[in-house]
Amino acid sequence: MRLSYGLAALSQGDRLVAWAFERRELRPTDIAVKIQFCGVCHSDLHAIRGNSRFPLVPGHEMVGEVTAIGAEVTKFHIGDVVVVGTIVDSCGHCSSCKRQLEQYCLEGVTTTYDGIDKHDGSITRGGYSNEYVVDTHFAYHIPSGLDPASVAPLLCAGVTTWSPLRHWDVKPGKTVGVVGLGGLGHMAVKFAHALGAHVVLFSTSPDKLVDAKALGADEAIVSTDEAQMAAQASRFDFILDTVSSRHPLDPYLRSLKLDGTLCCLGIPKALDFSPFLLTIGRRRLASSGVGGTLETQEMLDFCSQHKISADVEVIAAADVNDGFDRLERGEVRYRLVIDMATLKVPAGATA
Ligand SMILES: [Zn+2]
Ligand SMILES: [Zn+2]
Repeated sequence: MRLSYGLAALSQGDRLVAWAFERRELRPTDIAVKIQFCGVCHSDLHAIRGNSRFPLVPGHEMVGEVTAIGAEVTKFHIGDVVVVGTIVDSCGHCSSCKRQLEQYCLEGVTTTYDGIDKHDGSITRGGYSNEYVVDTHFAYHIPSGLDPASVAPLLCAGVTTWSPLRHWDVKPGKTVGVVGLGGLGHMAVKFAHALGAHVVLFSTSPDKLVDAKALGADEAIVSTDEAQMAAQASRFDFILDTVSSRHPLDPYLRSLKLDGTLCCLGIPKALDFSPFLLTIGRRRLASSGVGGTLETQEMLDFCSQHKISADVEVIAAADVNDGFDRLERGEVRYRLVIDMATLKVPAGATA
């Protein structure tokens, strides 16, 4: 086994502390990645507070350098900089996996952390750590010409918004709404703009409207302003809702054109909407989950080509608990990324 260390919640709801643990030795198609940066995702916070397998090492937006390769690896070489996201294994043979939509694997995926390895039954530990061992099918070359820290969030916030924007064919001539300007929302605005759509950002915070335009939105609307919302009726081809807390969907459903789709990425405890609004206008209410290997590679290529990455604030490992507090208060613009070079080696672990 490989002795590893990182930041862990030892039990449900705990603050993160330094923790030493073991990772598997490399299988023939694995690489070992020395983690340089790891993004802080809202789902990390949910996992720490939820019914996860503890101790929990979060983190599924990684950038790092290949330090070892398995016997059959040809895709990467030692010294390559790679990125790893939210999924690290799937069955590989079901109808979803055959289309490289591994996130919808019929046998279930292995998540980057808090998952169960299909081969040895071990619990997966995430990227808030010094090293990750991953099958090369779920690792990608870093897109060229971008700051590595700002690339990390592309692997969750990026592909989670990219996948639905592509699936619902966002392109020039389409009017697209983005609800919420957080980690996901700010990526959605950048992507939808670069895909050539007319982009309208909806936010409850008036102070985010200026930012939204700087990120590429053509218009920005305060979603609590009923007059402004009423003026949006039957206007949108597609609306991507990135808000995870419970909120009314009717204003957005009313804003959809005939055959328009409202795609909700957040998973609130309940959906508040009037089914009648789907009937008038043949509107659709949908959702979407991260992205598979095909879409992830496509997104990374697009980001390199269009010089798109996340707006990040790099923090030291010691500041991650404060970072979670700031994330909860909505103070992060727009993604925290941990500099893993600042990770302390806990007592009992040797680097
Ligand atoms: Zn995430
Ligand atoms: Zn599968």
